[in-house]
Amino acid sequence: MSTDCLFCKIAAGEIPAEKLYEDDEMLAFRDIAPQAPVHFLVIPKKHIQGPAGVGMDDEALIGKMMRTGSKVAKDNGVSDYRLVFNNGAGAGQTVFHIHMHVLGGRSLNWPPG
Ligand code: 5GP
Repeated sequence: MSTDCLFCKIAAGEIPAEKLYEDDEMLAFRDIAPQAPVHFLVIPKKHIQGPAGVGMDDEALIGKMMRTGSKVAKDNGVSDYRLVFNNGAGAGQTVFHIHMHVLGGRSLNWPPG
């Protein structure tokens, strides 16, 4: 855990969030500023600063993020959804703990802005 990381604090239960799924390695919770009718984030509880910080030891964890996102999307009634990882401030990353956005429940345009 990184002591000054917002998502580590959410994973530790120190900051409340609307949790949709949790196990010993993973947490899914609703985004505080949803950009679609269904918009939640999947994080590993392990602190990794972003996609560029993923190491070889993390490969299974990243696969599990995708499986978790797909399961929670299905549980929330969406079969068509977008998975987004932002890496770096220029790409829109604002929280430097790796997270996967899952967006669904409306039609989504491509390319994104
Ligand atoms: P990023 O821009 O880093 O890819 O995504 C960070 C996301 O975290 C944003 O969509 C933002 O709305 C969300 N977020 C920021 N602070 C909080 C918070 O305290 N609680 C929750 N549930 N989401 C947050």
